[in-house]
Amino acid sequence: MTAPVVGVLALQGDVREHLTALTAAGAVARPVRRPDELAAVDGLVLPGGESTTISKLAVLFGVLEPLRARVRDGLPVYGTCAGMILLADKILDPRSGQETIGGIDMIVRRNAFGRQNESFEAAVDIQGVDGDPVEGVFIRAPWVESVGAAAEVLAEHEGHIVAVRQGNALATSFHPELTGDHRVHRLFTDMVRARGAVDAL
Ligand code: GLN
Repeated sequence: MTAPVVGVLALQGDVREHLTALTAAGAVARPVRRPDELAAVDGLVLPGGESTTISKLAVLFGVLEPLRARVRDGLPVYGTCAGMILLADKILDPRSGQETIGGIDMIVRRNAFGRQNESFEAAVDIQGVDGDPVEGVFIRAPWVESVGAAAEVLAEHEGHIVAVRQGNALATSFHPELTGDHRVHRLFTDMVRARGAVDAL
């Protein structure tokens, strides 16, 4: 497969950092706002930001239902922090009007690691990422309370689940796009390539 085209949902959040990390990981990276832009990508990143704001803008831009449909259909998707919340089938403490896209059978707790000024960095060992642990940047980060049978836990921090994969959906509580270490984005672009190879059969 030639370089996969990977979108970043560009309604709110740290879009530019993901575009840079995806490019470094060998993808053709593009911002995605509208349904026609969503239809043109092989994979999608849901960035960090504020999950309620992103979900409300997704409704306004008419892209929430198309997102749900493509994720249901197996589109490779990677959510960081707010993006992880959007991929959860269930949010423990949703704000009013907050919607999820879903895709991973997990329950997330928003802001679980504390407030903005309690943000921190920690080394995280992620299954499927070789070498040293990844530097995890946690900013008002969620954690995963529990996962269903189909979801695989890839990493924990102090007993809390912080990285999960289910099929083509990957989610982390933390922000690898902020560290200059592109191994998690490479893991994701490999998932996108693998899906492309299956589609080409
Ligand atoms: N706490 C935010 C939320 O609920 C997520 C923070 C982040 O993405 N860094 O959406």
